[in-house]
Amino acid sequence: MRYTCAYCQKHSCHKGDLENAPLNCPTKNEKENLDKILEKYDEEENYKIAHVSAEVVMDNYGAKTRVREIVDFCKQMEYKKLGLAFCVGLAKEAGIFIQILKNHGFEVESVICKLGSVNREKIGIEGCDVPMCNPIAQAEFLNKEKTEFNIVLGLCVGHDTLFFKYSEAPVTVLAVKDRALAHNPLGALYLADGYFKNKV
Ligand code: SF4
Repeated sequence: MRYTCAYCQKHSCHKGDLENAPLNCPTKNEKENLDKILEKYDEEENYKIAHVSAEVVMDNYGAKTRVREIVDFCKQMEYKKLGLAFCVGLAKEAGIFIQILKNHGFEVESVICKLGSVNREKIGIEGCDVPMCNPIAQAEFLNKEKTEFNIVLGLCVGHDTLFFKYSEAPVTVLAVKDRALAHNPLGALYLADGYFKNKV
């Protein structure tokens, strides 16, 4: 195991105190590699995304909802045409969200997970009447419409993976799917020492 930031109690990188960083700290030990990676921020799109996202975070820090942050980010990025890839289980929320986006002046293409209504036999699942989720089609349809930025709402674990893999436009996530915890997966971590001890 090379990288152990999740075990680090010092967070010297965050504090700018590298003298006291752990011995295997990659910020301290991989300066050359990090400098090379930093050059990627000079690429036009990367620079703009990094710059705008930092501005959005710093503006009214901690007070803005993620919905509002997405709106602000898209405005400052000067995106006009957005894509929404949503789960059928969150269709109501998708409708509310696209109305908010439209109220802010965006054009929005929206595609549901069951696009194509394909039987799960396609992916080797027998005896299930519910169509398979089709995140590759969601991504390809949004690619075809040349959306400038895509937003994921409630796609399942793995389906989101395929969507990220095939989306040509950059992507953010409004919400992730967690059927057991009202789409708040961190609840399992907050209670990992308690009620969820034997469930995580
Ligand atoms: S980069 Fe270094 S200081 Fe920062 S969390 Fe990782 S090990 Fe800790």
